[in-house]
Amino acid sequence: MNVNDLHWSAGFIDGEGCFCRCGRTISTSATQVDRWHVDKLYNLFGGNVGVFYRKEIKANVEGKYHRWAAYGPRAAGIMMTLYPLLSPRRQDKIMDLLTIWLQQPGHHKPYKTHCKHGHELNASNLYIRKSGKQQGKRFCKPCMLIAQIKCRARKMELISN
Ligand SMILES: [Zn+2]
Repeated sequence: MNVNDLHWSAGFIDGEGCFCRCGRTISTSATQVDRWHVDKLYNLFGGNVGVFYRKEIKANVEGKYHRWAAYGPRAAGIMMTLYPLLSPRRQDKIMDLLTIWLQQPGHHKPYKTHCKHGHELNASNLYIRKSGKQQGKRFCKPCMLIAQIKCRARKMELISN
């Protein structure tokens, strides 16, 4: 994507688009009669394009509309990319959405595959606390064992001294 595309997208979505909550996720979308704009957004950002018909009450005509939309992490990525180029009202909305979205379970950073001491957190090394304050927290079993041994060694030292 070049700078022109980025600015075009920001201007278009700022004017015609929508940043919203969509059930448990978030979306970035834009609806337009003209398919060209919607296709351009799709080519730049991915996501999906849909066609739907809406009756214009005033004009009493059936209009064909194209809607581009992206959801979840893709929508969040688009929001963060366009953020500096958008109007303050849009920026506020994005901040609200991202804050809510990031707080939801299941939207955390991907789990680490190794502990900080380099043990692989596979099925046999991983211990997940099942209750208490730290319920759901992941621990590395080799590290827990090492900590226990160290602790025991310290106690032994205290006794022998
Ligand atoms: Zn470890």
